[in-house]
Amino acid sequence: MKLEDQYNKQKKLVVLGGGLSGVGAAILGNTKGMNVFLSDSGEISEQSRKELNEYNIPFEEGKHTLDKILGADEVVKSPGIPNTVPLIVEVLKNNIPLISEIEFAARYTNAKTICITGSNGKTTTSTLLYHILKSAGLNVGLAGNVGTSFAKQVAEEQHDLYVLELSSFQLEAMTEFRADYAVMLNITPDHLDRYAYQMQNYVDAKMKILNNQTVDNCFIYWANDPLIVREIEKIKPLSHLIPFAQAKAEGICAYQKDAHIYIHANNSTFRMKKDQLSLQGTHNLYNSMAAGLVSKLLDISDESLRQSLTDFQGVPHRLEKVATVRGVLYVNDSKATNVNSCWYALQSMKSKVVLIMGGTDKGNDYKEIEHLIKEKVRALILLGKDNRALHEFFDGKVPLIFDADNMAMAVNIAYDVAEKGDVVLLSPCCASFDLFKNYEDRGDQFKECVRKL
Ligand code: ADP
Repeated sequence: MKLEDQYNKQKKLVVLGGGLSGVGAAILGNTKGMNVFLSDSGEISEQSRKELNEYNIPFEEGKHTLDKILGADEVVKSPGIPNTVPLIVEVLKNNIPLISEIEFAARYTNAKTICITGSNGKTTTSTLLYHILKSAGLNVGLAGNVGTSFAKQVAEEQHDLYVLELSSFQLEAMTEFRADYAVMLNITPDHLDRYAYQMQNYVDAKMKILNNQTVDNCFIYWANDPLIVREIEKIKPLSHLIPFAQAKAEGICAYQKDAHIYIHANNSTFRMKKDQLSLQGTHNLYNSMAAGLVSKLLDISDESLRQSLTDFQGVPHRLEKVATVRGVLYVNDSKATNVNSCWYALQSMKSKVVLIMGGTDKGNDYKEIEHLIKEKVRALILLGKDNRALHEFFDGKVPLIFDADNMAMAVNIAYDVAEKGDVVLLSPCCASFDLFKNYEDRGDQFKECVRKL
């Protein structure tokens, strides 16, 4: 028996959280011969239970048995559990190593990792890059916040490289992990409740994507964000710095000029017309640049890159084209749960818009989108249980405002007021929990109602 296997057999691994990442980590630990126990204070889904049973992994739900947890040699924690909860404080007090599922999985693969983070655009860019690399014939996996768990893929599949979407929560728990290629799309305020309302704490978590990078690794980043630039000056990473930006400037490796995007890497420049990109909208231009830069660094041919940037189907619920009915295009942007993402959606619209917005207002400031709404919106349809905040702000600023308390009603009103050539856009600026299970449910209902028109 190899020394490593022998060590694993004696190792007690506790996994906290029975979601996708937790179950994945438990499966990986199990396949490495470890003594695994999974604990979740809430209810574990039917699917997770089934998988744990298939591997004969013991677990508990609805509670945490402290003795068992504190008997661990190592604890893998779900990214949803903050370090401040009493259980984690106890684990740390007992000096039990505490790591993330990503860190754990990375120990058991030699595959290259491309890690994508940012406040907005992670899923879109990760999925686009995965599509480019897969279409070019590479043996690539997609994991992290999107797709199946990284640990589960390491246990059950063998990929040569992985595209990993990483949130600040996942990055927080990184110690030895190293990204071969790290991508930072942007940093704007988010999740501050988890970071003691200190922006710098959130920034520090995000910048952990640079941890352990060496001269052999690359850091691809959005150079128009002074915050990111300031952090780089502070951290002085060893990595190859590969900035992308809105406009051409010295050292900038990807940018837009006139009707094209330019991507320069490995001594060659890729040029493509912006209107040929499948993902439209300014924000998506940046996402395409980031994905294109990594692709060029990985020596994907220009021909293959061009094809994939053209035929990418997009990600559901992010500016997703649903159908054209009587000359009106219906677009589902249900994932736009904050004002900034709605701003980008409106900005990308070239015709008049009938906007469906509303939901659980998180104390939004609609000033940011006021001028775009005045310029582009023909009618506002407020879809929510309580639309008072929206009325207060928008009454008198838009010619037509309607209220709806279910999706069918909202779509029917939109159908009545939209004129040929318009876009009906669902880009709510708000969370969905007042009327829907989640943003996916909201987007799915929108699509279903549109298809019934
Ligand atoms: P994330 O995974 O970071 O939440 P998504 O790709 O799911 O990002 O997109 C979330 C929302 O943000 C969508 O409404 C999308 O249109 C918008 N968005 C996507 N990319 C960007 C970007 N680079 N900057 C700002 N907003 C973006």
